[in-house]
Amino acid sequence: MALAPWLFADYRRVNAMSRTEAEASLDWDEHPTRESSMLEPSARGLNIFFDVDNTIITWDVKLRPGVHEVFQQLRTDGHTIYLWSGMGPRWEVVKRFELHEHITDCFWKPLTDHHARMEQLGIPVWPDYVIDDHVEIIQAFTGLHVPEPKLPLERDREMWRVYDEIQRFVSGPG
Ligand SMILES: [Mg+2]
Repeated sequence: MALAPWLFADYRRVNAMSRTEAEASLDWDEHPTRESSMLEPSARGLNIFFDVDNTIITWDVKLRPGVHEVFQQLRTDGHTIYLWSGMGPRWEVVKRFELHEHITDCFWKPLTDHHARMEQLGIPVWPDYVIDDHVEIIQAFTGLHVPEPKLPLERDREMWRVYDEIQRFVSGPG
């Protein structure tokens, strides 16, 4: 799936701005995903938000094993994948590891006062499930904590555990 042109242009523009300018310029009502995000998660696929540093990439910018495979499977299952980061929208990571077909959008991640910051940061969809190496964001939303990738990297199986946990979350209690 290619990025919608409006989205790509918008975030190319935002990427070139300072954080304050970017926050001020984002127009919530332009984003068509907002309405569908009002549905219950069970009535649609989940909006799944992945952190970037130490979650899908290592500290020295290597891709965690299984990212492509698990992102592909999550999309096949009907979920929508977003990246967010305290460092800003990480399109350079999307580009470097050729993740465009999987990633619907990239955002700034709120680091404190998470719920209140969502609108300020121009995030038009609500995260149904978040994956992060920091527990604070998991506590603020719903999701799964992952430890940072361990060496040897090729033995790291965390992305498949993420997939299994999301499957468990979707099927609900019992
Ligand atoms: Mg991180």
